[in-house]
Amino acid sequence: MKKLNPTYAESSNYRGITQNTRKLAGKDMDALRTSVLERDKYKCSYCDFHAEEYQTIWFIDGDSDNNKMSNLTTVCPMCNLILNTRVGCQIEGIVELYEESDYSQNQIVQMTRKLRREGKSDNEIRTRLGLKSKVPFKLNREYLSVLFAFVTSWKGSYGECEEALAYGYRE
Ligand SMILES: [Zn+2]
Repeated sequence: MKKLNPTYAESSNYRGITQNTRKLAGKDMDALRTSVLERDKYKCSYCDFHAEEYQTIWFIDGDSDNNKMSNLTTVCPMCNLILNTRVGCQIEGIVELYEESDYSQNQIVQMTRKLRREGKSDNEIRTRLGLKSKVPFKLNREYLSVLFAFVTSWKGSYGECEEALAYGYRE
């Protein structure tokens, strides 16, 4: 698994949970996305979650002009919100940030998904993960890089993420 930590793409790079570049439109973007997803066998590079639906692609270096296959990787909706923390925190209002956790960010995603499938509440999950010292979002990659992001069960400001996230919480 690739190491996961909260960061953000420039706002122009983000067009929603299933499409995160504006440089390529329509067919070109779909073709690129499909070739990356197929290469990675639809498995998220950050949490190993496998799904045929709602997986998207992430530009590893943050540059959506860099369409080289080596710069592209498959990402699930939860990890996508953590990599797009600005959207997760400020636009969707669905992501919380903490200074302390008993687990790595990659494990937080895996455990959140598992515990939510088991019907655990957000509070139970926060306790299990040892999430402490909640802090606000700041537009600063260095500040974010040492924090832990928690994707809550809230549906988000626009509900755009709800279906994609809920898909991952089902067996
Ligand atoms: Zn993931």
